[in-house]
Amino acid sequence: MPKDNPRHPKFPIPGGPELRAKGWRQEAILRLLENVLSVGEDPDNLIVYAALGKAARSWPAHAAIVKTLLEMDENQTLLIQSGKPVGLMKTHAKAPLVIMANCNIVGQWAKAEYFYELQRKGLICWGGLTAGAWQYIGSQGVIQGTYEIFMRIAEKRFGGDLAGRFVLTAGLGGMGGAQPLAGRMAGAAILCIDVDADRAIKRKAIGYLQEIAPDLDAALEMIDAAVREKRALSVGLVGNAADIYPEIVRRGITPDIVTDQTSAHDLVYGYVPRGMSLDEVKRLREDGQGQLMAASRASIVEHVKAMLTFQDRGAEVFDNGNLIRTQAREGGVDNAFDIPIFTQAYLRPLFARAIGPFRWMATSGEESDIARIDDLLLDMFPDNRIITNWIRLARDNIPFEGLPARIAWLGHLERTALALRVNELVASGELKGPIAFSRDHLDAGAMSHPNIMTEGMKDGSDAIADWPLLDAMMLCSSMADLVVVHSGGGGYAGYMTSAGVTVIADGTQAARERLDHALTNDTAIGVIRYADAGYEESLEEIESKDVPYIRLHR
Ligand code: NAD
Repeated sequence: MPKDNPRHPKFPIPGGPELRAKGWRQEAILRLLENVLSVGEDPDNLIVYAALGKAARSWPAHAAIVKTLLEMDENQTLLIQSGKPVGLMKTHAKAPLVIMANCNIVGQWAKAEYFYELQRKGLICWGGLTAGAWQYIGSQGVIQGTYEIFMRIAEKRFGGDLAGRFVLTAGLGGMGGAQPLAGRMAGAAILCIDVDADRAIKRKAIGYLQEIAPDLDAALEMIDAAVREKRALSVGLVGNAADIYPEIVRRGITPDIVTDQTSAHDLVYGYVPRGMSLDEVKRLREDGQGQLMAASRASIVEHVKAMLTFQDRGAEVFDNGNLIRTQAREGGVDNAFDIPIFTQAYLRPLFARAIGPFRWMATSGEESDIARIDDLLLDMFPDNRIITNWIRLARDNIPFEGLPARIAWLGHLERTALALRVNELVASGELKGPIAFSRDHLDAGAMSHPNIMTEGMKDGSDAIADWPLLDAMMLCSSMADLVVVHSGGGGYAGYMTSAGVTVIADGTQAARERLDHALTNDTAIGVIRYADAGYEESLEEIESKDVPYIRLHR
């Protein structure tokens, strides 16, 4: 039985033992589509997160996808082009059930303005990273990444601990909403600015944010008290970051850590310029896109200048993957890239071992399935400090949104080992239903994004998009259930290409084979991608885990 969804009553949370499709693979994928809308930011408009990241191109396209998933057989493959179903092909039972290509625009044309024009004509939609591929799990999807960044900074700068440290950030949207909880889990006092009061209220209602301050004075007092008492605290403040950051600079206050996760990548549908109301912005999105882009960029310039001042004053400042430095540099802030990107600054040694944001969803809708897998992880990886620490924290702190799900940064062969064991638990009935395994697109072999994921690669291969394309083709050959190639839309047009994958553990022998091949080859490509770029960690991984890399000198 689906569950009520108080946040979006028209979009119930799927679950239960009833099969509506012709098999559990199709049913599970349909539930993932239902889930991304149930936890999405604006499901009435099919928007899941990141300003414009959509689950399907239009409501008729959505209806046709649902109908096809309900009716299709296992020996067919549904083709989706930018959120619209375009074919149901005769394949075979080991082929993927769904193959997608979303928002891939030929190089010279891949610009925000051209994307908006195609979108207006109904020819394209942006799938975000995980929205259009139905892999989004709410704010939890980035929370461990954000937490690991904070912990790397704690180790680098603050003796391993963020107690008594002030973190300043902005953006309480679909992904940015993870920041207050990640900051609190890391022990910090974290202040999160968002221009939209509803976003702050929503994060508080679902347990990701503790307090909402009435104004900046009150917010700073709350943070100051928490810092003095070394007490973890998350505080939201409604305001424009392009006003608030410079005001904090003006007051001579320097946080310990500063970042930002507004939708700065999109100057029209994401970022809100200072001095404009949300209604005014909505109107300009329809009839003043040029004006809005200029105003957003001018605000981002001030926003980033304040971040650079914090950096000059000694704060640890980083770009959290929203293209804010790129926008500022185009607005004339020549030194915007003095701010490092989080991947290169903190997480690359993990990605070089293909350790990244793996996740699973209980299609039964039962939280007990996730609890059982949490126990299993602790049993299987007792010596993996990142995992044991994370699972203990996550089970105590992270509220479920939509289908119960868990994220955990596992690497090569670890993901496969877990999934195979879980498949056995589904077969034995110890778990109440199939488990869907997936990962973020921001994963070792899966993404080329020269201003985020692959910035500053050792060998200069930042912008080569062969890797995600190879990954996707390999995943199709490896029998994954859903495979997708995404490129950037809106302000990300021309900036990235990524591959996504989902594999359903339904307890069958066929699922065992799919999980084994797809998950192993996916991370193997990740290790190979970094080994080929010359990362020592990857070469060690190749050696110790017998990864089939063909090593040639250039
Ligand atoms: P979202 O569109 O759901 O939320 C963006 C939030 O920013 C909204 O709540 C909006 O009100 C707020 N905002 C916009 N302009 C503002 C301003 N000037 N001042 C204060 N608040 C403002 O987007 P999201 O899903 O939360 O993603 C945010 C950004 O992070 C995107 O650019 C996205 O691509 C990026 N992202 C990065 C990662 C990563 O791995 N680091 C992962 C996912 C998303």
